[in-house]
Amino acid sequence: MNGPGTATNQVTAPGEGVFYVCGECGWENKIKPGDTIQCRECGYRILYKKRTRRVVQYEAR
Ligand SMILES: [Zn+2]
Repeated sequence: MNGPGTATNQVTAPGEGVFYVCGECGWENKIKPGDTIQCRECGYRILYKKRTRRVVQYEAR
């Protein structure tokens, strides 16, 4: 019973696929290269690439 947004803290490792958010239900789908772009929760086929929110801090000298 994981709702949307519960996996936002996961780190996307390079080469392990990209998270796409379903345009219908908001489910986060991890799509690997070659996978079909389709929501595994509701079957919707329009997914949006999730933006990785990464806080980058530069040390000011
Ligand atoms: Zn969906």
